[in-house]
Amino acid sequence: MSLPLLQRIRIILIETSHPGNIGAVARAMKNMGLTQMVLVNPRHYPSPEATARASGADDLLARAVVTDSLDQALHNCRLAIGTSARLRSVAWTQHTPRQSAAQLLHEAQAGEVALLFGRESSGLSNLELDRCQSLVHIPANPAYSSLNLAQAVQILSYELRTATLSDTPPAPPPPPVATRDAMEGFYRHLQQTLIETGFADPQQSDRLQRRLRRLFDRARPDRDELNILRGLLSAAQGRKSMRRE
Ligand code: SAH
Repeated sequence: MSLPLLQRIRIILIETSHPGNIGAVARAMKNMGLTQMVLVNPRHYPSPEATARASGADDLLARAVVTDSLDQALHNCRLAIGTSARLRSVAWTQHTPRQSAAQLLHEAQAGEVALLFGRESSGLSNLELDRCQSLVHIPANPAYSSLNLAQAVQILSYELRTATLSDTPPAPPPPPVATRDAMEGFYRHLQQTLIETGFADPQQSDRLQRRLRRLFDRARPDRDELNILRGLLSAAQGRKSMRRE
């Protein structure tokens, strides 16, 4: 696999509190050949501390994109993988760093992909994990499994780089799929329709919505298939006439 694939992998840091960690992440990424860093609502940034900790990776820091929403950070991505310091409930498929690195590189052959890192204090929220198609957990000491943010980025970046150096011939590129933006539009439409048609109770639809996300994320529809599904939802909402003119 080739090194430029690493440049299609976005490292997204959510609401990082310590600017020193942001600098250390830039350094970890540059050491391993990753280039795209996206910061969602960083607490203190830009900051001299971030620049100092980036050491010679301040160019990567200077190119970092700062956004105020995860939607923007994931714009145009085809796959998002979340990181977790804890083993989570079975609602999310969980992989090892090696498996996730292989998947990210495979998918990067067909477009942009993202790896999400959470807050130092509380990690990623369930709503943020809902945006992810799988989770990766670094198998640390179960009694003390939470790594420093930049060290977690270092380990996963190393796995990504190592995977590019493998001798095994690359698997053929995966087929096109709808982007995460398009999938989010579909999930909003689905939620609206389930409520409007009385299928779901707005107060209690979270678990149902999560299961439906899992189902459609497993199916990985392409853009045309998603349009069919949205047409079907519109018809169910009664917004489109089903009669042939
Ligand atoms: N206290 C938080 C952990 C935050 S550590 C919690 O319990 O969830 C900050 C971030 O570093 C995490 O959100 C995750 O992105 C990453 N991280 C830390 N340890 C990790 C591990 N063992 N595996 C995967 N990611 C980890």
